[in-house]
Amino acid sequence: MTRAEGIERVGVVGAGQMGNGIAHVFALAGYEVLVTDTNPEALAAIPVIVSRNLDRQVNKGAITAEAKADALGRIRATPDMPDLGPLDLIIEAATEREPVKTAIFEALVPHLAPHTILATNTSSISITRLASRTDRPGKFLGVHFMNPVPVMQLVELIRGIATDEPTFERALSVVQSLGKTAAVAQDFPAFIVNRVLIPMINEAVYTLYEGVGTVSSIDLAMKLGANHPMGPLELADFIGLDTCLAIMNVLHDGFADTKYRPCPLLTKYVEAGWLGRKTKRGFYDYHGDAPVPTR
Ligand code: NAD
Repeated sequence: MTRAEGIERVGVVGAGQMGNGIAHVFALAGYEVLVTDTNPEALAAIPVIVSRNLDRQVNKGAITAEAKADALGRIRATPDMPDLGPLDLIIEAATEREPVKTAIFEALVPHLAPHTILATNTSSISITRLASRTDRPGKFLGVHFMNPVPVMQLVELIRGIATDEPTFERALSVVQSLGKTAAVAQDFPAFIVNRVLIPMINEAVYTLYEGVGTVSSIDLAMKLGANHPMGPLELADFIGLDTCLAIMNVLHDGFADTKYRPCPLLTKYVEAGWLGRKTKRGFYDYHGDAPVPTR
């Protein structure tokens, strides 16, 4: 296992589904990881969730029990965000709302070491705009992991307008050191994957809203008809309906084009707090052994 040159200690802001996965893959690749979150429950859950996900890899024979124990030993948590300041690379993976992310970067800046690289895992928000709120737009870029992080091969790397070449090259070697593959995207709303994926999910919600199909028929149609491994509504629940809505709003605002308008039914589910798997209800109900369609 070879770490990227110049990067040993990595900070992760946000211990949700993405932050946990990011901590997992970095620790497994030999990096020391320090995670922070404003929610103490999310922080306390990190070792439990990461341990369970590492077990999946042990059971498949992908990693040894010793590698699991070593990786878990490399993850620490702190409620105090300034503790992350001196680290080599900080990846922000907090809630997909621009004011949240801006506040995080502004709070981090006074505590950063001069060499610290800042990255955001945002699915859609302008890298250039987030970078402009820091003291180091040159050392700032988008490092967009896919969910679930330990499983998915791709990481999108997004340069802001000011990102310097050494920072970009270093991020590329970090991605490679994790055994993942980078796709390079320019800094336009939602980059590549979500620019294509989330409008498709939004269109699937419209087909549900308009009664063209049920939850089951829409997912079945896209699995068997388009050879997608998951149906779009199942996938929306997996991503989180709040995240899907936030990305649609970024596309809508960013391009000022009505083709990106969020489906009112998606908005309604988010207003209800039915956010998908993470709240045990979205387009499916997850309280029982098997997911049950809700429409
Ligand atoms: P999540 O809701 O599971 O987790 C977000 C976490 O951020 C929560 O634990 C919350 O307590 C924490 N948080 C909120 N404000 C904070 C603050 N000020 N300081 C520290 N922690 C704070 O969300 P997620 O799905 O993990 O998404 C996180 C980021 O990753 C978002 O930007 C999202 O767009 C992006 N992303 C998500 C997916 C996906 O499929 N869910 C995929 C790629 C990227």
